[in-house]
Amino acid sequence: MKKVISFVVSFLILLTSVTVVFPVSSFAANKNVVVVIDPGHGGEGDRNLGAQYNGLSEKALTLQVANALKTELEKYDGVTVYTTRTTDTAVSLEERAAYAKSVGADFVFSIHFNASSDHAFYGSEVWTSTFGNYYVAGANFGNVLMNQWSELGLYQKGVKTRIGSSGKDYYGIIRACVARNMPCVIMEHAYLDHGVDVSKIKSGDFINQLAVADATAIAKYFKLKSATTGADYSGFKYTSVKKPGKVLYQDETGPEKCEIKVLNYDLNSGNILVEMTTKDSQSPVIYFTYSYDGGKTFNTLQMWDRTQTTQSFNVKVPSGTANPVIVCAAYNNYEKGTLSNPVQVAAMFNY
Ligand SMILES: [Zn+2]
Repeated sequence: MKKVISFVVSFLILLTSVTVVFPVSSFAANKNVVVVIDPGHGGEGDRNLGAQYNGLSEKALTLQVANALKTELEKYDGVTVYTTRTTDTAVSLEERAAYAKSVGADFVFSIHFNASSDHAFYGSEVWTSTFGNYYVAGANFGNVLMNQWSELGLYQKGVKTRIGSSGKDYYGIIRACVARNMPCVIMEHAYLDHGVDVSKIKSGDFINQLAVADATAIAKYFKLKSATTGADYSGFKYTSVKKPGKVLYQDETGPEKCEIKVLNYDLNSGNILVEMTTKDSQSPVIYFTYSYDGGKTFNTLQMWDRTQTTQSFNVKVPSGTANPVIVCAAYNNYEKGTLSNPVQVAAMFNY
C-alpha cells in the first residue's frame, strides 16, 4: 500500500466572538423527545451520491440505516421521529436543518458513511459542533454511540470537531443546525473504501445492526424506555464532557514524537522486532504503520493502543531481503501522520 504522509502547515484562523445560547436540557421522562434523522446525500451528481466504492453507495446506505433506525427508535415511548428524506432525492443542508427546526427537533442525527482520499483509514467517527453546549451534547451522545458501535467490532476513531475559515463549524449540516439552535452530529459509521470495514458492511444484516446500535445510543442518551420491548434506559448514566472554555480547533499536525528502535531480529523467520514510542499532546494516536524498504511502501494501518506511548511489534521482511531499512509512522485521529527515524538492519534475510 502506498501511503502519503501529510505534513501540514498550521495556519491561523481569525475568529470573531461567538455567542452560543443553547440550554443544557435534562430530558425528563415525561418530556416527549423529537428526533430528526438525516440520511446524508441523495439524488444525482457527485456530491449527492456520497462515497461510492466496492459496489456500495453511501446515499443508498444512509437511507437504509435511517429507515431501519426510525423503525427501531419508534419502539420506544415518548419519542417522535422524523427523517429529512425518504427517497433518493437531493435535499440541501439548509433545507434539512430548516425541516428539523420546523418539527421542533431536540437533536439532529446525520447518517453517513466514510471514505478517505488515499483509502488508508477505517473505523467510525463522530463530528459535532465545536461550540459550548452544542459540543457538550454532541460529544456526550458521540461517546455513548461509540460504545454501541464498538460492540459491532468497528474501530472507534473518536468524537471530533472542525472549524472552517469563517470561524464557524466546518460541516454544513452542523453549522445549519447550530444556527437554528439545535445540536447535531454527523455519524460516520464506517469506510466504504477500506477492506477492514467493507467486509463487515457486506456481512449478514450488518446495516440493520448499525441501525439498532444507533437507536440504542439515542435511547440511552435520552433515557428512553419501551413498553413494547421492555428495554429501559431511564436510569442510564454517562459522564459528561466539560463545556469547552474556548474554541476547539482541529488538530492540524501529526504526533510530535515518533521514534523507533530495532530490539531484535530473526534470520530464520524474517521477523524484526521494533519498538515505537509516539506522543501527540493534542489528539490520540490511533494508527501506526511500518515499512521495511525505507518508506517506499507501508503496511496497512494497524490499530495503536491509545493508552500506551510505547509498543513493540514484528515487521516481517520477505526472504531475499538484504539490509532492510525500517521506517514507521504514527497517525492521530485527525489522520495526521509523523514518520519515524529510519533504522537499517545490516543483515541478509534468506529463510
Ligand atoms: Zn457523507
